[in-house]
Amino acid sequence: MRIVLVGPPGAGKGTQATRLAETLHIPHISTGDLFRANISRQTELGKLAKSYMDAGNLVPDEVTIAMAKDRMEQPDAEGGFLLDGFPRNVSQAEALDELLETEDMKLDAVLDLEAPEDEVVKRIAGRRVCRNNSAHVFHVTYTPSKKAGVCDVCGGELYQRDDDSEETVRKRLEVYHTQTEPIIDYYKAQGLVVTISAMGPVDEVTGRALEALK
Ligand code: ADP
Ligand code: ADP
Ligand code: ADP
Repeated sequence: MRIVLVGPPGAGKGTQATRLAETLHIPHISTGDLFRANISRQTELGKLAKSYMDAGNLVPDEVTIAMAKDRMEQPDAEGGFLLDGFPRNVSQAEALDELLETEDMKLDAVLDLEAPEDEVVKRIAGRRVCRNNSAHVFHVTYTPSKKAGVCDVCGGELYQRDDDSEETVRKRLEVYHTQTEPIIDYYKAQGLVVTISAMGPVDEVTGRALEALK
């Protein structure tokens, strides 16, 4: 399957993507995680991306699309993938369509995770991610790690993302509404969108997502 996950920052895209990818046996491709991996390796791409991410803005399309394309062309993504955080605006969606078309491939679904703003703000405020891998994600009260500050998956140190500060979150929500939400209409026109509520326990949301993707 080829799936795109959309939803506001903090809706639970990464959390659900990890689980869905495991169940559906497809790689979880998160552009946010790829940028953070570049930042920790201090690559040129990481340095460029960090300045945009810390301000709550989108990283420019050219580098983002090239990075996503490169990842989607890895052998493990041949049979399908779950895109988390890409595309994030209409030009990225168009670039993805072009890329899929040249490979004679199509998306199967766009899963839209809905959550009210006050809930995503609470989820982001308590989010803690692992220094080794930002796909290892916890919440200080909702889904705490067994030992405070230590990742259950790999034992790494948990920290708060620089862009999860209150001020940056407000900007990211604005960017979501103005730039990312329009892709939902773009994909609705292709009949691809399934919308589910992101509220409730993690397992319940996963069940809902799997049902919607059937
Ligand atoms: P969240 O999980 O809170 O939605 P992500 O980890 O997906 O956040 O993204 C963090 C930041 O990385 C974004 O605010 C943006 O700066 C950058 N980013 C991630 N994906 C993209 C993308 N497709 N296009 C441009 N910037 C992106
Ligand atoms: P996104 O990738 O959309 O930004 P995350 O998956 O990182 O969202 O989740 C944001 C925060 O909310 C994390 O701290 C995560 O542990 C927590 N979280 C995710 N899903 C739920 C849920 N169903 N209920 C409560 N907290 C959740
Ligand atoms: P499961 O047995 O449900 O598959 P795992 O311990 O194998 O759980 O973890 C799978 C993924 O789920 C991890 O890579 C991590 O990203 C995510 N995860 C694990 N525990 C939590 C948690 N408390 N909160 C949010 N995400 C978690």
